[in-house]
Amino acid sequence: MPHYDLLVIGAGIHGVGVAQAAAAAGYSVLTLEQTALAAGTSSKSSKLIHGGLRYLESGRLGMVREALGERGLLLKLAPELVRLTPFYIPIYPATRRRPWQIALGLSMYALLGGLTRENRFARVPRNEWNQLDGLETTGLQCAFRYYDAQTDDAALTRAVMRSAQALGADLRLPAKFVGARRGESGWRVEYLDGATAASCTASAIVNASGAWANEVLAQVAPRPPIFPVELVQGTHIVVDAPTTRGVYYVEAPDRRAVFVMPWRGKSLVGTTETPVRGDAAAARPQPAEIAYLQDVFRRYFPDKPARVLESFAGVRVLPSGNSSVFQRSRGAVFLPDDPRRPRLVTIYGGKLTSHRATAAHALAMLADALPRRAVRADSATLPLTKAD
Ligand SMILES: Cc1cc2nc3c(=O)[nH]c(=O)nc-3n(C[C@H](O)[C@H](O)[C@H](O)COP(=O)(O)OP(=O)(O)OC[C@H]3O[C@@H](n4cnc5c(N)ncnc54)[C@H](O)[C@@H]3O)c2cc1C
Repeated sequence: MPHYDLLVIGAGIHGVGVAQAAAAAGYSVLTLEQTALAAGTSSKSSKLIHGGLRYLESGRLGMVREALGERGLLLKLAPELVRLTPFYIPIYPATRRRPWQIALGLSMYALLGGLTRENRFARVPRNEWNQLDGLETTGLQCAFRYYDAQTDDAALTRAVMRSAQALGADLRLPAKFVGARRGESGWRVEYLDGATAASCTASAIVNASGAWANEVLAQVAPRPPIFPVELVQGTHIVVDAPTTRGVYYVEAPDRRAVFVMPWRGKSLVGTTETPVRGDAAAARPQPAEIAYLQDVFRRYFPDKPARVLESFAGVRVLPSGNSSVFQRSRGAVFLPDDPRRPRLVTIYGGKLTSHRATAAHALAMLADALPRRAVRADSATLPLTKAD
């Protein structure tokens, strides 16, 4: 029976990030993916590589600083996949945050990111407002411009997996994890390789199965602790009207932040927050979510057609709780099977942007369960290229 130092369950951005980090650290690693690379949330995000300006309001400075650091790295390592993009925040009389608050937030964002070119921000001069893709200028008090980055989430996931494979990582796909039993020196793992039952042994496991994390844990013996989560879908629509100048960060009538983004010659608008009932794989955009996003687009770009060409829903994994979904932490949570001697770590939530740091953290938690190996590379210096 084949043996691997590390088994990774799931090939979304976190699974491939862990595979890359493990292969770079010299470990033998097998990744199992039940559907396709980036088949889950990692192809249905807002496709932003960003610090997350709005997380400053909830005081998550560490998370924002880490994400801005990762953004800087990805801009260097993956120039074909991650592009610095101007972001615009328009302010009208009814906008909740006043210009001074936005200026304060952007100053803090710039400080956390390091005072580099990509962290500068400014007010867009009034005589340039008519160049903002037809943005509503009636009542416009000011518009701020700052910089963050856009990517193609699925292409980024594929690029990280290719990097892992170039360092020796194995990938089985479609291959569904169906069970693991912990023994003295590691795990015996069962999976379906296509339709065929297969098994292997592994010293350690990372459960990176996203919205299915707790279903996967239910197949592990002895049964590990489970972190209570809520699944919340975020829908995006693609509208048949291009935005070309950058990303617009606007406020919906219910005061939620919504992005209008250039996407393949059209505009991508998102997102929503709707509880998911039942299987995450069945999450689909709801008519009310589509209408809500269309309405936001029409409010800010009244002269553009808002015909919806496409829509998709990604599933967030958020800690259960009583606070509003909007205020729950978007940072990754790491849960070991045994806090004293972890041999399995589950990753809940997290950000596409911070996948490299998240992967490094999960792997570090398993250091004692893994053998000593000669390091092959450092993921902070591995270029990521677009192959398709
Ligand atoms: C609407 C939305 C917008 C977002 N926008 C952004 C953004 O702009 N920027 C940002 O940084 N972050 C963003 N995020 C967060 C980010 O997209 C996610 O945190 C990230 O994609 C999750 O990746 P993952 O690998 O954990 O999960 P997933 O991508 O869902 O991957 C899990 C994988 O596990 C596989 N799997 C499940 N069970 C099994 C099994 N039994 N055997 C084998 N494989 C299995 C699934 O098929 C799936 O491919 C957004 C999230 C949402 C929901």
